[in-house]
Amino acid sequence: MNLSAGIQSIPLSDGNQIPLLGLGTYGDPRTTPKGSALECVKLAIDVGYRHFDGALVYFNEHEVGQAIREKIADGSVKREDIFYCGKLWNTFHPPELVRPALERTLKTLKLDYVDLYIMELPMAFKPGKEFYPKYKDGKYIYHHTDLCATWEALEACKDAGLVKSLGVSNFNRRQLELLLNKPGLKHKPVSNQVECHPYFTQPKLLEYCRQNGIVMVGFCPLGSSRDSSWVNLKSPPLLEDKLLVSIGRKYNKSSAQVALRFNVQRGVVVIPKSFTRERIKHNFQVVYPCYGNVCVA
Ligand code: NAP
Repeated sequence: MNLSAGIQSIPLSDGNQIPLLGLGTYGDPRTTPKGSALECVKLAIDVGYRHFDGALVYFNEHEVGQAIREKIADGSVKREDIFYCGKLWNTFHPPELVRPALERTLKTLKLDYVDLYIMELPMAFKPGKEFYPKYKDGKYIYHHTDLCATWEALEACKDAGLVKSLGVSNFNRRQLELLLNKPGLKHKPVSNQVECHPYFTQPKLLEYCRQNGIVMVGFCPLGSSRDSSWVNLKSPPLLEDKLLVSIGRKYNKSSAQVALRFNVQRGVVVIPKSFTRERIKHNFQVVYPCYGNVCVA
């Protein structure tokens, strides 16, 4: 794959494009200072990022939207330069809740449309005010989902102009097939956002996605933030991997840059999260050459 400065985005099957590298915006709300996403998204736009991955359940979508609007207002970018991906949360799968959920995201962002809206997970929680409904014993309250019916409600949102492209997340091959084989399918999923990094390369799913014109977007491309509430901390940290470090030494890159480049070279879009100034710049240098603070697109 040619990764010259001109190649920044890859085509989606519906005619739109997705930038190969985006900024992940999930920061643990318990430990992330308020305003972090606002400042980091603004900095990222200055650095050259145009793709932002967010969600209603990250609880900072208002900050991401504010950052985008401020950078549009100061003339740095136009709305059409930005690619924002939002996500339909598990409590909104019943078809009548889909459009209100997307409208809530748009209201939070204070934007007229999102570029990509994806079903965050192929399973549902009980609808209601609680995003994480639980029984008294602490177990999640799941809910029946008809993925095809939810998809049809998403298709109506695209037809209404609230979203440019539709995709999914955490879908396996069988779940993708369910949508692709749906009678009367109007809009194909353009992307599938899944965990993907050198310790979890997803070769079979990637091949299936390629064959069906679905772009794979890799989350946790740096091996995640190693949050002890869901990561087994005994597992080896990806960024300390000896091979990645030694490849990095050879090419004067960090293990993080090697891990990102690994996916990008396979045509997998990467959305590394960082709320640290230097790392935001550093991670961007995988695809685009940077001179000081200015990255050439
Ligand atoms: P990640 O991007 O693999 O890793 C983020 C962690 O790496 C943070 O702790 C960050 O710390 C650190 N980091 C960033 N750049 C670094 C560098 N150059 N060197 C060393 N450490 C570095 O993990 P993630 O945040 O879980 O995944 C990325 C994004 O994917 C999320 O933000 C979210 O948008 C999306 N996501 C989606 C799903 C889904 O189900 N669809 C699930 C998980 C994540 P600092 O911030 O302190 O720099």
